[in-house]
Amino acid sequence: MPQASARTQIAHFIHGARASGHGTRTQPIYNPATGAISAQVRLGNKQDVDAAVASAQAAFAAWSDTPPIQRARVFFKFLELLNRHRDELAHLITAEHGKVFTDARGEVARGIDIVEFACGIPQLLKGDYTDQVSTGIDNWTMRQPLGVVAGITPFNFPAMVPMWMFPVAIATGNTFVLKPSPIDPSPSLFMADLLKQAGLPDGVFNVVQGDKEAVDALLEHPDVKAVSFVGSTPIAHSIYATGARHGKRVQALGGAKNHMVVMPDADIDQAVDALVGAAFGSAGERCMAISVAVLVGDAADRLVPKLLERTKALKVLNGTHLDAEMGPIVTPAARARIAGYIDLGIKEGAQLLADGRDFNGVDAGEGCANGFWLGGTVFDHVTPQMRIYKEEIFGPVLICVRVPDFATAVELINTHEFGNGVACFTRDGNVAREFSRRVQVGMVGINVPIPVPMAWHGFGGRKKSLFGDMHTYGEEGVRFYTQQKSIMQRWPESIGKGAQFAMPTAK
Ligand code: NAD
Repeated sequence: MPQASARTQIAHFIHGARASGHGTRTQPIYNPATGAISAQVRLGNKQDVDAAVASAQAAFAAWSDTPPIQRARVFFKFLELLNRHRDELAHLITAEHGKVFTDARGEVARGIDIVEFACGIPQLLKGDYTDQVSTGIDNWTMRQPLGVVAGITPFNFPAMVPMWMFPVAIATGNTFVLKPSPIDPSPSLFMADLLKQAGLPDGVFNVVQGDKEAVDALLEHPDVKAVSFVGSTPIAHSIYATGARHGKRVQALGGAKNHMVVMPDADIDQAVDALVGAAFGSAGERCMAISVAVLVGDAADRLVPKLLERTKALKVLNGTHLDAEMGPIVTPAARARIAGYIDLGIKEGAQLLADGRDFNGVDAGEGCANGFWLGGTVFDHVTPQMRIYKEEIFGPVLICVRVPDFATAVELINTHEFGNGVACFTRDGNVAREFSRRVQVGMVGINVPIPVPMAWHGFGGRKKSLFGDMHTYGEEGVRFYTQQKSIMQRWPESIGKGAQFAMPTAK
């Protein structure tokens, strides 16, 4: 293991400024490609959370009173700054997460989509109005912000997932406290600096670095009105339950095991391209990664040899190389967990066709010998009883399950406890239609392997992939971060004489 060397400390952003905070615990930040420790992140404690929430609470009155068009103008400026600095942000992601630079740029671009959506907030907050609900009476509904809201985000999209949350939350008039993953904390501070430069008032966006201690403090804080969480299922479930117990609105997005069905009529070359990209892109560390290929009928025998050939030719390199297809695994612990699943698959009797443990970091580029490397792994003849089928591995491991027909493929997916994303490759319109309607999964791709919805559609799974009833971003995001108020008015000229004791009806 590499020795701690870097003394740089990465800390919080509270009330418009970097803050070293009160928590004294720290955690090393790695460059996953080289294994070197690049800095230490300070882990916030209750005092740090209290300071951030107090700043957000103090900023709420003025920010929620700021006209939506002015709030949108801050986001237009933020958008301009993000566009100008998108490569710097992508480099920060590659340095701490390890994903390849081209993919990190894609992450930033998908976050920018949400900022663009938030720029349209005046239109989205217009509300409904009915003239003359009864004689002389009008009724309208409006949506108002909640107050201080918190976002707790995972390591795998350190810029995009926070941007699923804060642009919509802040544009709708809330103030925000972000608790990013301590594994790759720098992008959150970079975005905080850009928001400040864009003119966002101090206190509207705060960052508290940390782990469970900071999360617990947020969940228990009486001034935090809502919590958006994205991460693994056990933590998502616990955040949902604890947040609800403390009276908060909670949306908690969890883990996944995404299947891609390949029908016998599919274009096999297209399906292979889709599988390798979706299984090994970002080293499989995506909640929308395809981790199960469901091969229907004779598609299996035609597809598996090509899949294997393509997996063995993957360009696994330091993510800074522009032609890299896959980078390292995020931490030594994650690498050990994934390698453990490869051992388990062999023990469970699956057929190991490509073994990522054979990949040596020396082949990934200069200085990479001590990085956290694995190559692409493929298992065939996996059965639904195996743990490598049931559990989320979250790494570059693709398992193939062979099924006789379409109905068995759909049944397999619907029986799985996760329901985040799914895909079906076919040329048959009726199969595509039936698949889309019957499958119990939140996001469906027809000949699209990773169907991450665009900014104005909203993102969310089903079953153990989402606790809560609203998707993140899009109009669902606007609803999550606002509460509806209904106002009914009349003026003295239209008020009749005498008290009315029966339920009022339209007259
Ligand atoms: P994680 O659950 O370990 O951590 C997520 C967040 O929770 C981090 O901020 C972390 O610091 C915090 N956390 C961790 N343990 C905690 C605890 N005991 N109590 C309170 N907070 C805690 O997830 P991760 O490893 O960072 O990210 C990978 C996971 O996230 C995968 O399971 C992946 O599928 C999932 N994910 C889901 C989506 C989605 O949209 N459904 C998107 C991205 C990632």
